[in-house]
Amino acid sequence: MSINNPSPQKIPFDIFLEDFRDRSRHAYRVRADIDKLSTNRGMPPFVMREVMSGNPLSVNIPEQYGGRGGKVEEILAMLSAASYESLALSLTLGINSALFLQPLAKYGTAEARLAVFDRFLSSQNMGGLMITEPGHGSDALNMQTSFTSDGESYNIRGTKHWAGLTGWADFWLLTAREQMKSGDLKRDIDFFICDVNQDGQHIIVEEFFDNLGLYQIPYGRNRIDVEVPHLYRLQPHSTGIKLLLDLLHRSRLQFPGMALGFIQRMLDEALSHTRDRSVSGKRLVEYDQVQHRISELQSSFTIASAMCANSSGKAGIEHDLSMCAVEANSVKSYVTDLMQSAAQSLVQLVGAKAYRLSHIGGRGITDSRPFQIFEGSNDMLYSQISDAVVKQMKQAKESNLYKFLINNDLSQKATGYLKDLLDFNLNMELPQRKMVELGQALSRIISMEMVLDLGEKGFRSDLIENSLATLRKDISALMGHFNYSDQANLIEDYQDNSVWYSLATK
Ligand SMILES: Cc1cc2nc3c(=O)[nH]c(=O)nc-3n(C[C@H](O)[C@H](O)[C@H](O)COP(=O)(O)OP(=O)(O)OC[C@H]3O[C@@H](n4cnc5c(N)ncnc54)[C@H](O)[C@@H]3O)c2cc1C
Repeated sequence: MSINNPSPQKIPFDIFLEDFRDRSRHAYRVRADIDKLSTNRGMPPFVMREVMSGNPLSVNIPEQYGGRGGKVEEILAMLSAASYESLALSLTLGINSALFLQPLAKYGTAEARLAVFDRFLSSQNMGGLMITEPGHGSDALNMQTSFTSDGESYNIRGTKHWAGLTGWADFWLLTAREQMKSGDLKRDIDFFICDVNQDGQHIIVEEFFDNLGLYQIPYGRNRIDVEVPHLYRLQPHSTGIKLLLDLLHRSRLQFPGMALGFIQRMLDEALSHTRDRSVSGKRLVEYDQVQHRISELQSSFTIASAMCANSSGKAGIEHDLSMCAVEANSVKSYVTDLMQSAAQSLVQLVGAKAYRLSHIGGRGITDSRPFQIFEGSNDMLYSQISDAVVKQMKQAKESNLYKFLINNDLSQKATGYLKDLLDFNLNMELPQRKMVELGQALSRIISMEMVLDLGEKGFRSDLIENSLATLRKDISALMGHFNYSDQANLIEDYQDNSVWYSLATK
């Protein structure tokens, strides 16, 4: 079905989504063979034209500006349809959605919203977010990009790298700290909308990177020295750091949209391959270990579905998510781990044929890998989940993990199934590696709650049962690790007396 109606908000969503699916499928499978194009960098212009012609990004734009109103379930369904065809396409749309249009809708001035939304709806413009700097990634709050104001505009200067859509986006949300008269930078962070098509707002790309995967998305290093008008600064409701947390947590809660379509594609490819391929006179799908892998893929599909359903009710811009760290970090870190394992499992099942850039499984490994790094490295997020839970337990004066989790909205029902694993007093002074393991377990417990909720809503019960069994097994393994005392330490000068062949003849 094709839609020529220019007013996207009037089209029923199921028709809108089907149209987007058709266009993406046609662009990636008929007009271009994505597998054959896989060694090229960049997105072929006709692919982007075809995909964008249905105005998919209108799902993020408020109705009063001609969009579909920013309904989270529509945004997630659109991201998921995109990632079934191409994870890079989905990330492109995800960047525009969560890192540009949603913050603009929530914090932009009326003038900026009017002008920018119109450019997205009428000219298919794109926007991204620049936070990361060469010297400051995970510790983004120490960024050195600075701004000063002359009364009419803001002068923003600095170097940013790794921003998705480098050299391609028309708009950038730039982050910077105010430079005081002393030359020092204030602690808070501000956000500015830079329109690279305007005089004085051009961003110079000093280098394009040879990113390992996601070939369709350009990355690089940017030199910023731009003048942005006063009305193009975002208006935080309190501090800029709270705005940043609200933005990042909302984005993390929407990762399951990108994850779901990708995982489903890995699952469908695995099913189709293992049904067709015979090894030693037996179809692959008949082997027990193959079935085990596919059931894990199905569990991941169910978990990502449960997370989408959960985020639909919570991640709208009307909610303040700045305090939602435990839930948002659990969702982002766990679902991105599931994406990576899904791609690894497909490659294992397909064998050598998948170890090629032209195979969706091989590409899936490198395409999904950075999801575990960007918007909060997973190691860090897992330990932050535990930090927050330990802090809440101390405040509640509760040291028994089971008793704490059974009284927590995020984990109440799931904890009931896990009493034997969680009924112990938690040591509140754990080393970071243990905090990471605990965070991994907590993220799975919180996700199990979402799966139980999805089951109650009427999702297919055999998928729910399988997923609960898989989750319980994983949580049990993680708690086993957690309770094992890990004695291995880093040995800095490990080269001394550690050459095996000098000992071989002794
Ligand atoms: C494909 C891709 C897309 C990206 N898109 C964007 C974008 O659109 N916009 C943008 O601004 N940035 C983007 N980034 C940058 C990304 O957000 C950063 O790479 C990320 O924040 C990590 O920063 P870093 O690479 O400087 O690593 P570092 O901060 O040096 O961290 C490296 C590693 O050190 C470890 N580590 C760091 N801190 C801790 C800690 N406290 N405890 C334990 N371990 C720790 C972690 O394992 C971490 O992965 C993107 C990156 C990639 C690869």
